[in-house]
Amino acid sequence: ERIVGAAAEGDDQAVEAALRPKDLGEFIGQEKVRQQLDLVLKAARQRGATADHVLLSGAPGLGKTTLSMIIAAEMNAPIRITSGPAIQHAGDLAAILSSLQEGEILFLDEIHRMSRPAEEMLYMAMEDFRVDVIVGKGPGATAIPLDLPPFTLVGATTRAGLLPPPLRDRFGFTAHMEFYEPHELERVVRRSAGLLDVEIDTDGAAEIAGRSRGTPRIANRLLRRVRDYAQVEADGVITREVAAAALGVYEVDSRGLDRLDRAVLEALLKLFGGGPVGLSTLAVAVGEERETVEEVAEPFLVREGLLARTPRGRVATPAAWAHLGLVPPQAAGP
Ligand code: ATP
Repeated sequence: ERIVGAAAEGDDQAVEAALRPKDLGEFIGQEKVRQQLDLVLKAARQRGATADHVLLSGAPGLGKTTLSMIIAAEMNAPIRITSGPAIQHAGDLAAILSSLQEGEILFLDEIHRMSRPAEEMLYMAMEDFRVDVIVGKGPGATAIPLDLPPFTLVGATTRAGLLPPPLRDRFGFTAHMEFYEPHELERVVRRSAGLLDVEIDTDGAAEIAGRSRGTPRIANRLLRRVRDYAQVEADGVITREVAAAALGVYEVDSRGLDRLDRAVLEALLKLFGGGPVGLSTLAVAVGEERETVEEVAEPFLVREGLLARTPRGRVATPAAWAHLGLVPPQAAGP
C-alpha cells in the first residue's frame, strides 16, 4: 500500500463517497470532457431518450466512477455499478442486463477485463438492446432471444487501446480523462477540506496539490493525512508549512515522489552516474523486484520527465539531477 498509489485502498472508499461531486458543475477540471458530456446528456434529455453509451478512459483515481454517477444524476436515472472482473460468465452479464430498468446507467469498471463470451453478449446488448440467452448444453442448447429495456452503458478503462475495436466502436462517445493540473487539484483539495470541515489556506492547498501526482484520489488521501498532522502537531489549520511537514513524515516529497521513487532515482544517479543502466541491475541496486521498479516506480518518473527508458537502459534526465540536488558528473568539473 502506497500513500501515493492511485488505486483505492484502505478507508478510501468510505471517505470518497462523501467527497464525490454530485453534478457536472461541481466536477473540477477536465474541461473538454465536461463540455462534451454536457452536450451529449442535454441532447438526450431534450429528445427524451437514453444517452448514447459512454466510454471513459484514464488512469485510476481521475474520477471515472464519479463521472458515471454524475451521468446518472444528470439523466435522473438509477445506476448499477459492476466491473469486468466481476463478470466471469455471459450468464452473469445476462442477469444484470435483464434486470435493468429503462434508462438505467450501467457502469462497467475495468471493462477491458471482461471475459470473451460476456464481451460478445455485450456487443449485441449495446447495439440492439437484446441478448441471446443460451439454455441447455451441447446439441440440445437453444438460444432464447431476450429484449432489454434501453439503457446507457458507461464503460471505464485505463486505456481505450486495450479494448477490442468492435467493443470500442459501439460507444457513441469516448472521453479521455487527463491527469489534473496543480491548480485544479488545488480546487479539489479546497473543496474536500470544506466538506471535511478542515481549515486550510491557499498555500496549504497548493502544497498538497503539488504532491498529488495529478490525481484527485491521491489529493484527497494526502489531505486526510495532513489533517491528522495539523490536528495533532499544529493548531488544526493547514498551511504550507504544516502540509510540507506532514507529508515529510509520510516521505512524500515536493513533487509527489515517495520513498521507492526516490530510491530508484538515487540509485540511478549515485551508483550509475545517471545511466544508462539495465532494469535488472537497477532493481537489484534498490533491493526490489524488476516488476516493482518497472510498474510501480517508473511510470510516474517517466511522466514527470525524471527518467527515460532507452534501448540501452534507464537514463536520468537533467531534471532528475536537479530534483535530488545533485550535479551530473560531466558538469562537476575536474
Ligand atoms: P478507479 O478507476 O480506481 O475506480 P476512478 O477514476 O473511478 O478510479 P473516482 O473513484 O471517481 O476515480 O475518484 C476518486 C476520488 O477523487 C473521489 O473521492 C472523487 O470524489 C475524487 N474526484 C475525482 N475527480 C474529481 C473531480 N473532477 N473533482 C473533484 N473530486 C474528484
